[in-house]
Amino acid sequence: MEMPFINECAVESCSYNVGSACHALAITIGDPPHAHCDTFFVTSFKGGDPAATGQVGACKMTDCRHNSRLECQAGSIAVGRAREGADCLTYSPR
Ligand code: SF4
Ligand code: SF4
Repeated sequence: MEMPFINECAVESCSYNVGSACHALAITIGDPPHAHCDTFFVTSFKGGDPAATGQVGACKMTDCRHNSRLECQAGSIAVGRAREGADCLTYSPR
């Protein structure tokens, strides 16, 4: 399996976000029933690897058609703002 890249994340308040790009090495999506970014975190400094583009390390949304064995097998994903954090915009219920 390959880990998909995060093409874009609009949640600039997240500590892993610089310039609408995620720099966490591997994020987790879920728990159900919400496809939120569980790695979303706000603190006073930026984290992650500035030279790396974030990838999806694990996903608990078993009802998404891109999910296989609790891993995301989409070509890539996008993340956007949610009411209290960030959501996977590529989530697609079967
Ligand atoms: S909200 Fe999630 S996808 Fe977006 S920058 Fe933060 S960790 Fe990355
Ligand atoms: S596209 Fe589906 S399987 Fe991939 S991270 Fe988003 S919710 Fe999980």
